[in-house]
Amino acid sequence: MEHLEYQEGRTELESLGEFALIDRLTEGFGRRHRSTVKGVGDDCAVLGTGKRKTVVTTDMLVEGVHFDMTYTPLRHLGYKAVAINLSDICAMNATPKQILVSVAVSNRFSVEALEELYAGIRLCCERYEVDLVGGDTSTSRVGMVISITAIGEVESDRIAYRSGARLHDLLCVSGDLGSAYSGLLVLEREKVTFQANPNFQPDLESYDYVLERYLKPEPRVDIVKLLAEKEIVPTSMIDVSDGLASEVLHLCRQSKCGCEVYEERLPIDYQTTRVCSEMSQNMLPVSNALNGGEDYELLFTISQSDYEKIKDSTEVHIIGHITEEGSPAVMVTPQNTTIELRAQGWKPVE
Ligand code: ADP
Ligand code: MG
Repeated sequence: MEHLEYQEGRTELESLGEFALIDRLTEGFGRRHRSTVKGVGDDCAVLGTGKRKTVVTTDMLVEGVHFDMTYTPLRHLGYKAVAINLSDICAMNATPKQILVSVAVSNRFSVEALEELYAGIRLCCERYEVDLVGGDTSTSRVGMVISITAIGEVESDRIAYRSGARLHDLLCVSGDLGSAYSGLLVLEREKVTFQANPNFQPDLESYDYVLERYLKPEPRVDIVKLLAEKEIVPTSMIDVSDGLASEVLHLCRQSKCGCEVYEERLPIDYQTTRVCSEMSQNMLPVSNALNGGEDYELLFTISQSDYEKIKDSTEVHIIGHITEEGSPAVMVTPQNTTIELRAQGWKPVE
């Protein structure tokens, strides 16, 4: 591996965005098998030659980057690690079936601690009828790392890729946005207070909804079921893990279209609004909704002809529509000004 160390013209990780980095690393691999229907670039890979396809995804959680042990109960962490992977299965309009779980831990953790982690993993498996079918166990010198692979199934004609949105389609999102990030803000605030005064007992009761959204997200398997019941196949879909703005931009880029999102249509829970006003006068709930991340809701487009089928659903909100190729992805404010959507940058930890 010596030649790597002496490579000339070193490119710093932060000079590329996450997606440019993935593109650069995966470029030129090609496709050797007919059963590889979709490779890198969507929420899951799509595999198989039959009518029923298998979808596969993997996501890693790293201590100190994705979770903080001071306020993340291990049981919640196990649940969340499974849930966020099942969310990517849902984002293909598929049904989750199996998971594999890999963990790297130091001797800082006891067997009982790992049992707690697995109690959370088991709870999520039970709730969503998923089988644990394997994994890997390793030691770590720095912190805990959990990597989960999830497998799901879907009929070919029901798969929703990121690339299928068409002009005039309606842009929809499930649940509400920005609440998980508000939960994280509360936890970070209480952590600072606790560190200053270890006798301090945080009062978290009135924040139950936002805390649950951050610590224990639920994959929207119910939305996949709802769409099937209503006989709707979304023209495109993605799950909201990095904030609405970033995911809207993915859909538009991959579908080669623009879109208009209406600010007043964004679903924001009152607890999210309350947390924002407590944190700072300058913190707007809409910014949390656009950039907060970790909502694990589904963002999808449907044909206008499906509008009647979904319009009365309380869990699905129509937030905008698709515009023609070459036009930007924008948000329209109540004052009728348009703001171009931007994704917040990705930065490797130093
Ligand atoms: P998501 O947010 O849905 O989990 P990501 O943003 O993590 O998706 O990844 C985008 C796409 O890039 C996915 O198709 C994923 O499988 C692929 N990908 C991410 N990291 C790598 C990697 N290191 N090598 C190969 N493919 C990757
Ligand atoms: Mg995803």
